[in-house]
Amino acid sequence: MSHTKFRERIRTSLANATLQIALDANAERRVNGRINAFASLPDWQERRQQAHAVRAEVIDHLEEYLEQFVNKAEQNGMIVHRANDAAEAIKIILEIVKDSPQRSQRNTKDFPAPLPALRGKDILVAKSKSMVSEEINLNHALEAKGIRVVETDLGEYIVQLRNERPAHIITPAVHLRRNDVGQLFHEKLGIPYTEDIPTLTNTARKVLREVFLTADVGISGVNFGVAETGTICIVTNEGNGRMVTTLPPVHIALMGMERLVRDLNDLALMLSLLPRSATGQKLSVYTQLLHRPLDHQQRHIILLDNGRTRLRNSPLRESLYCIRCGACLNACPVFRELGGHAYNSVYPGPIGSVISAGFFGSDFVPLAQASSLCGACKEACPVDIDLPKLLTRVRAGLSPVVNDQRRRGAVATLSVNNGNGLSWISKLFLTIYSRVARSPRLFAVLQRFASLGARLVSPFSDWIPLPAFTGWGYSKDLPRFAGKTFRDRWKDLSKQVGTYTGIHVNRYTGTRVEKISDAVTVSLVSSFAEELTKVSGKLIHTSTNELTGKVVDLLKSCEINKIHLEPNVLDESVLEQAGLTVSHAPDASIRAGVTKAICGLADTGSVLIVDGEGEPLQASLLPEIHIAVLRASDILPSLVNAVALPIVRDSKAAAFITGPSRTGDIEMSHTIGVHGPGEVHVFLVHGTASTLVDD
Ligand code: SF4
Repeated sequence: MSHTKFRERIRTSLANATLQIALDANAERRVNGRINAFASLPDWQERRQQAHAVRAEVIDHLEEYLEQFVNKAEQNGMIVHRANDAAEAIKIILEIVKDSPQRSQRNTKDFPAPLPALRGKDILVAKSKSMVSEEINLNHALEAKGIRVVETDLGEYIVQLRNERPAHIITPAVHLRRNDVGQLFHEKLGIPYTEDIPTLTNTARKVLREVFLTADVGISGVNFGVAETGTICIVTNEGNGRMVTTLPPVHIALMGMERLVRDLNDLALMLSLLPRSATGQKLSVYTQLLHRPLDHQQRHIILLDNGRTRLRNSPLRESLYCIRCGACLNACPVFRELGGHAYNSVYPGPIGSVISAGFFGSDFVPLAQASSLCGACKEACPVDIDLPKLLTRVRAGLSPVVNDQRRRGAVATLSVNNGNGLSWISKLFLTIYSRVARSPRLFAVLQRFASLGARLVSPFSDWIPLPAFTGWGYSKDLPRFAGKTFRDRWKDLSKQVGTYTGIHVNRYTGTRVEKISDAVTVSLVSSFAEELTKVSGKLIHTSTNELTGKVVDLLKSCEINKIHLEPNVLDESVLEQAGLTVSHAPDASIRAGVTKAICGLADTGSVLIVDGEGEPLQASLLPEIHIAVLRASDILPSLVNAVALPIVRDSKAAAFITGPSRTGDIEMSHTIGVHGPGEVHVFLVHGTASTLVDD
């Protein structure tokens, strides 16, 4: 990738008015959402330092934790593969997919016939969002072998229909507006043109529902692997992640080998930071913990290296701490103008500019120039990665692929003054700068001249059309310069306050204790009720005696006469008297599913569902309405308390559900009810009865 091509793409992005509007809207909402979400976590700075330490520990002892993870996952019945590079990963996936039981050999009588477009293909793969699969260009490889692959995350589905790559690691269709999606669905799916986002979302729901129900193989990414328990954790909002890991007979989890944490406590810490940083949520709608395959399933985990070991042994090692939240992209003033496609890499933005050079080679070194080194990315990063430091290292030619090539003599020896990826003018500037910076007196004199010159071009940029010469200020004016230089202000400050000494105390260095807000301590129930309402869930208070009657009332008001019910949750004789038909097995035509909740989380309004008799995981996923029955005494303060429950690690699979399924993939507009239920009703049972149903 030459500087010239990169610059051309930059100009194209800046000239695209639609893109600029879309990027502005994304950045504003994501940044504000993140700030609001962290307001509910007063100790987030300490957590961030702790998260940095956790990731550093894992990367320092990666092989040990990998061995522990692999052993435990295999004991749990998962099939673990390790792939050195993209080609190996693709080969393994192709073998698994080709050996999968085909649709025709499976009992699909309860499911509707596939769409015409889905017929005639031997194998159908339903994919949920996975940046690692983008990294290895998996779709292309599968399609080349005649395998049909359908992306099921709404944003990914949109970019797949457009034959594009995601423009953001969290919001793949960030570059599009509703009219683009309306036109696309009109052309590709044959619906009348509309800009109504709920209609567009519902159209995708209908098409993709059939994909979930008929897919031979589900492929997902992995947010975290837990070394101690062999668990994989996947967080999603739409429900597609749950569908592809629950319904098909084969699930393949594709995971970067660095994405480990030590134990479930570390996982809870990470999950207190990841959704807040990524989407401004306290917890994503679905947080899945997968320990074993379900009864009808094979579960494979593919651990991918693909340059990670090289990165680990390089000066860019810290980039492996990344948990792919996307916050640095949203914070970066350069990404906010360019969007993801200008980078021409699967991984754009500040973190992408570091790891792309490490993963994909020296062609991607120029991406590191697309940074003002302002530090906004470091400030936003929930694991406190020093991104500006890493970016300057890439600029200096210290990425591992460049080093490898240099060792082989393929790349000229590099230095700061002769850096790979730097234009001649940058090299000249750095040479002069390094001489000036070594003389404080000369630096101070030239600083005054420089600030005088800068005032001439900004904010009076109409006088001197700087963009015509340099590209600087092409899309926006340079910021107004400060009245005094930093040096002058520092001198003034020193005179006023003398020396300041700060003391930092890290509360996590001792026994790990979850801090609980006073409100939660006072009343778990009222906090749970408040949080559930905030995430669009509904709460109904009841006693054990009234429970079934109240559920019947709700079902009747929705004109529902058949339910998928987990056994021993409601009084089935009362349901029968009320004329309701009960199924204990999944059925795609059933509109309501009723499950018990193992516990509730007061600080997020979440409920925990685990696998078991009557398939509660599917009852809480397939129908349009999910009814969860929760005892008030089972509300816990926070996720860290819930992951300590033995049932969590003993289950095959568990899901924390935080309100109804949702998406923000079209213009960041919140739309409820994508692939999972559009309504979540929690019946909160008060009283002392030890069972929900009278024995
Ligand atoms: S570098 Fe930090 S902010 Fe950027 S995606 Fe990774 S974890 Fe998030």
